[in-house]
Amino acid sequence: MPELPDLLHMQKYLRAHVIGQTIVAAEVRQPIVLRNAVGDPPELALKSMTITAVNAEGPFIRFTIGSTLELITNLMLAGRIQHQRKPDSTLGHLCMVLHLADGTRLNICDEQKMMKIYFVHSGVYTSIPNYTKLGLPIMDPAFTADAFMAAAREHTRKQVRVFINDHTVLNSIGNAYADEILFAAGIHPKTIVASLTGEELHTLHAAIGSVMAEGVRAVDAAGQPIHVKVRDHMKVRNRKGQPCPRCGTIIRREGVRGYDVFFCPTCQPVRRKVFIDWSTLPPPEAPGKDCE
Ligand SMILES: [Zn+2]
Repeated sequence: MPELPDLLHMQKYLRAHVIGQTIVAAEVRQPIVLRNAVGDPPELALKSMTITAVNAEGPFIRFTIGSTLELITNLMLAGRIQHQRKPDSTLGHLCMVLHLADGTRLNICDEQKMMKIYFVHSGVYTSIPNYTKLGLPIMDPAFTADAFMAAAREHTRKQVRVFINDHTVLNSIGNAYADEILFAAGIHPKTIVASLTGEELHTLHAAIGSVMAEGVRAVDAAGQPIHVKVRDHMKVRNRKGQPCPRCGTIIRREGVRGYDVFFCPTCQPVRRKVFIDWSTLPPPEAPGKDCE
């Protein structure tokens, strides 16, 4: 799925290229992904309207149309937005197409048809699951260590990977960056939040900030079209079988709640061992003077 650095890249690009443009025509190619809370069909309601704002919010991208309508996308696992500038370069798997006044098109695509497009009156979000329940904004100054610690105290029984991946806790960490953050923090993905020390939580908070900032920098630097997921800068994600860039141990993949997670078993050691590994226990100490 596109993650926050991808969505911020899209926001920047779309603000520069489509704000102020009039929609000449709108086509809904896959009604199954559309949730229409406006009533009027988008083909009629969007025609001759102008795109006035684009905002990335958590996993969503919100297009403001005129002053009263909004199209809000949740791209889920495979959805993409393409700004098509040449007639023959469509990505395919079109769900919705906005034909713009300058002759370009915004193609909203998903080969799995799992994404959602919410068509709503401005500010009326009751039809959008979790849109008004997004958690702490992780790229905002409001995301302080204290705020993060308070969130952790409310989710002590969760596995840390599940905790940081929950968009109602932290507004936008997807699977790929969750793996990168836990690698940066040196924490095994299945560690229970309650077992993390205060120092480890501070390390994790700092890792969220640094990994996401590096992601934003890397995605911007790559300069790819907005429909391309940039993942080359990742250290463990999708690198099963490759050596850890820090220690050389082979990266492993495991399942956490049905999702693949990637980690280095040396840099991110398991916290609770099921079997005691006697070979690693220190030999019994000979009594010294202090013990006499
Ligand atoms: Zn390692």
